[in-house]
Amino acid sequence: MLILSDLNYEQLKKVITDMGERSFRAEQIFRGVCSGKKISEITDISKELRAKLLSVYEDEPVKIIGKKVSSVDGTTKYLFKLWDGNVVEGVLMKYKYGNTQCVSTQVGCRMGCAFCASGIDGLVRNLTAGEILGQISAVNAEIGGALDKRAVTNVVLMGSGEPLDNYDNVVAFIRNLSDKRGLNVSPRNLSLSTCGLVPKIYDLAGEGLDVNLTISLHNPFDEGRKLLMPIANAYSIAEILDACSYYFNKTGRRYIFEYSLVRGQNDGKDCAEELIRLLKGRPCHINLIRLNEVKEKNLSSTSDKDAYKFLGLLTKGGLSATLRRQMGADIDGACGQLRRKYINGENL
Ligand code: SAH
Repeated sequence: MLILSDLNYEQLKKVITDMGERSFRAEQIFRGVCSGKKISEITDISKELRAKLLSVYEDEPVKIIGKKVSSVDGTTKYLFKLWDGNVVEGVLMKYKYGNTQCVSTQVGCRMGCAFCASGIDGLVRNLTAGEILGQISAVNAEIGGALDKRAVTNVVLMGSGEPLDNYDNVVAFIRNLSDKRGLNVSPRNLSLSTCGLVPKIYDLAGEGLDVNLTISLHNPFDEGRKLLMPIANAYSIAEILDACSYYFNKTGRRYIFEYSLVRGQNDGKDCAEELIRLLKGRPCHINLIRLNEVKEKNLSSTSDKDAYKFLGLLTKGGLSATLRRQMGADIDGACGQLRRKYINGENL
């Protein structure tokens, strides 16, 4: 079976007119799917057309099957079941200015970062464009949003998976997400986080999509970075910085570095000084977070005190940096943690 929301509007229009239907039906169907309806629930089209669609397309390719709400900050973790039985997770974070949803782009991940739960079993498969979009349309509907009154205002590609390792589907998703007939989320309200697949950063700069680029840095020294992130063996930090400059020149968008503080690995004065040397004067911001400790991984988080000390060194050195408050730590907030529990058969 196929997934209807993998199609963009023009492709959908062709499918519908090829079925002998009038083209305005395509807009009704596109709106229905983006607003989180199953095909069988799109009642402004005929029963016959629904039946025709259901003979080709999945009725509900992405379904919310679990939900955990943080008692601390209202952050909600979702577990989604895909049409083939695979599960992925996502998070909804509530801020003063709106709701940000963190979505997955792959089932599993093949990047193998030392601290991350998503890649423990490697990559299972890529998500299609419609499966990425489906996470958002499902949550938007679940929390009472509609197309003309969206409840999900911002999107970050920071769930499981490496978005640039699933490039075509991710770009198709971003285009559909920003379609004015659908969810109409501007690429400027979307952040794409990558471990640093350098050639794909250049490709992304050429798409004409002004998405916010976020790079997972985690260590300013190539040798130290290799200990945490195998991708550092393929691309150096210097190459990443060149790609970031290119991205900035093309899009005018400031870029962000994610830096998860791991005790004894990347939280010393030497790392702070090297970050200042590398990044001072660049149009960038550094997002520090304390490591979310993952049961299967033997790494601990930097203490609050040391995290603030590290932040102080960066800001005193002239960098724009913030220490992100840890959200959802009581609900397995870090990438891949909830899915692992599901797979291991633990209580969620
Ligand atoms: N593959 C992409 C996006 C997914 S991860 C990337 O590498 O950027 C989103 C962010 O969470 C990344 O910065 C990642 O390095 C970080 N991360 C993953 N597991 C973590 C953990 N246990 N604690 C803190 N940060 C983590």
